[in-house]
Amino acid sequence: MQDSNTYDFIFAGGGLAGLSLAYYCNKEESLRHKKILIIDRDAKETNDHTWCFWEKGVSPFEEIVFRKWSQVWFHGTNNFSKLLQLGEYQYKMIRGIDFYEYVIPILQKNPNITFLQASVLETENPSDTESVKVKTDCGDFWAKDFVFDSAYRSNYQKPQYQNMLQHFKGWVIETEEPVFQPDEPTLFDFRTEQKTECRFVYVMPHSDKKAIVEYTVFSDNLIQQSEYEHYLIEYIEDKILSKLPELEKSVVYSIKEEEYKIDETEFGIIPMSDEPHIQIPAPKVIRIGTAGGYVKASTGYSFQRQQRRLQKLTQELVTSKSDFYEFEKGKKSWKKPKYIPSWKSLLDTILLRVMLTKKHSTDDIFTNLFKYNSTEKVLRFLDEDTTFWQDITLITTVPIMPFVKAALEIIGRVVRGK
Ligand SMILES: Cc1cc2nc3c(=O)[nH]c(=O)nc-3n(C[C@H](O)[C@H](O)[C@H](O)COP(=O)(O)OP(=O)(O)OC[C@H]3O[C@@H](n4cnc5c(N)ncnc54)[C@H](O)[C@@H]3O)c2cc1C
Repeated sequence: MQDSNTYDFIFAGGGLAGLSLAYYCNKEESLRHKKILIIDRDAKETNDHTWCFWEKGVSPFEEIVFRKWSQVWFHGTNNFSKLLQLGEYQYKMIRGIDFYEYVIPILQKNPNITFLQASVLETENPSDTESVKVKTDCGDFWAKDFVFDSAYRSNYQKPQYQNMLQHFKGWVIETEEPVFQPDEPTLFDFRTEQKTECRFVYVMPHSDKKAIVEYTVFSDNLIQQSEYEHYLIEYIEDKILSKLPELEKSVVYSIKEEEYKIDETEFGIIPMSDEPHIQIPAPKVIRIGTAGGYVKASTGYSFQRQQRRLQKLTQELVTSKSDFYEFEKGKKSWKKPKYIPSWKSLLDTILLRVMLTKKHSTDDIFTNLFKYNSTEKVLRFLDEDTTFWQDITLITTVPIMPFVKAALEIIGRVVRGK
């Protein structure tokens, strides 16, 4: 173990979670002196993500919020189309490239922080509290305090859990003529063929001539690239218009092939799973971001959850009062997570099961949620910021029997230990 290859903290993965945590640590006087190595296989010089999220008040990254809106379109089942008012929330968009270009130079100013472009091959999980070895294709490195691992990926294949994927392909398109309403993004447009899954399009305008149009599927299998493209073209070029009843025709685009060009492409896969994540596989290894299970299982959203959890983790590092310190003080084996979910994650599990076993169409569930509840209440619910009784009143607005059946199946599986 060479001294020059030894750091206090090593970040295995410097994407959203790694860079956000490093950014928060860098703001803390008591952590700024830590010798830090941030390893990522990418240079982070492209716009590889567009992150959208809703928020009350100001974001820690408000300076780089690219667009924000106080209303969004929802197009659901049974002709339900509405421009929803977000009340105290705003729907915000941050582009990956803006995030990297903002955070990385701030961190580079700290002489204690080093960036390394390399592939992490393995993060060892020693059962004692010695330094942790991180093997990369550029050599081995050691962390004396912690490795924050966002490069790890679970394969989400255990049959006893509900494992689905949110997968999507999007295009940033630019049109010759103004066609988009810059202050009216579309959060969900379910007026696309559902194919017994959950499929929708969202449209986030950059201006009246530019927008990201994304085709999204919740399912247990991926589809061919050509299929995403087929439905994107159908949506943009208005091949769905003829299939729609009159009332539903609001906000349908009719842009001819020669009238737009594709500036950027985004493709992504987000796990939607209730499989428990081992967040601390060894005394000094902490998985963060998707690797740490920060994604909300039933929606795939995680930007805001990440920020909340990483700010909390930073405070725990400052005050040294976290569970992982207790682990360090003596326990030699990490307690295996049990399959007894909390109330909020139980709701996620039930919704995942309804979707996975196709007990009721997801477009109809979301339509009912947004039709019969205030948008603020639904967003609070999806943010897990509602009380038990508020959750119950909300649940009564969706078709209840599919949820009861799914809940009984889950109870049955827990009892049988499957
Ligand atoms: C295209 C896309 C769009 C998304 N949009 C939204 C959204 O709008 N709203 C929302 O809430 N959530 C969204 N998500 C979900 C989630 O917020 C993002 O996936 C988020 O980036 C997760 O953060 P992370 O740090 O865990 O992963 P990442 O940001 O992907 O960071 C992981 C980093 O680890 C690096 N890495 C991986 N393996 C290795 C290795 N072996 N060696 C070295 N480096 C490695 C990668 O290069 C990457 O930089 C989106 C996800 C995707 C994929």
